[in-house]
Formats: sequence, structure tokens, C-alpha cells
Amino acid sequence: MESPSKPQPLLATEGDRVYWSGVREHRLLVTRCRNCGHTSHPRVACACAVPAPEWVEASGLGSVYTFIVYHRAYHPAFAAETPYNVAWVQLEEGPLLMTNIIGCELADIRIGMPVRVVYDEEANGMILPRFAPAGSQSSG
Ligand SMILES: [Zn+2]
Repeated sequence: MESPSKPQPLLATEGDRVYWSGVREHRLLVTRCRNCGHTSHPRVACACAVPAPEWVEASGLGSVYTFIVYHRAYHPAFAAETPYNVAWVQLEEGPLLMTNIIGCELADIRIGMPVRVVYDEEANGMILPRFAPAGSQSSG
């Protein structure tokens, strides 16, 4: 029986397309305001009215800002993965990303834990930026 597929990231804007093509190349891109230097994850702008922020590559390092562990699937495609975590990681450049923490036990995830990006390929070939403890060995 075919299992239900997971919702896919929306590629609604040019910014979405730039961001996700960066991920495919294992580059985590954020936008930086040319006026104030504020760094954003795409879709979250600073207050400056200056158009066209520049794209810059983030280091891929950050820390767990907060997280939750789901023990029940709210979408059937995730049923086989429970329990699983959803986390906000704050990049060292400042922006927050919604992601998953991998490479450690759920019980070992801590707020403030240093993490680094891992480019994780889904069964359907989609590459997602997930985060693993910064000291772990797996390559990304
Ligand atoms: Zn600005």
C-alpha cells in the first residue's frame, strides 16, 4: 500500500526558489539587509524599506532555541516516525529556522545545545536542512 506523502516546502516566491536551490547545493542561505545588516531567514524582513537584501551563506552553526517532541502524528505521513521532534534553531547569524534535530536521542535534546546543519535527504530525494549536535561525527 502506498503511504501518504509528506507536505513539501512551498516554492511560492523567488526567495523560496533561491533558498531551496541553495539547500540542494548544501548551502544555507539567509538574506542580509544592505542598510542595517540585519540577517533574516527568507520571508522575515527587517524594518528598513530598502529593497533587495543580499543573499549570504550562513555558517550552518547555531543552537536549539526551543523544541517539542510529538508523540502523535498530526499528518498521516508522519505516523511511522513518532515520537519525533520539531525544533527552532537559531543560527549564529541570528535567524531562526524551523527544523528537526537528528543525530542524538530525543531525551538528549536541550535548549541552548550547539548544533550544526546536516543536509538530510528524504526518501523522495528532497534535501532538508536538519541539525545535529555540533560535536557529532556524521558528515553533512
Ligand atoms: Zn534593515
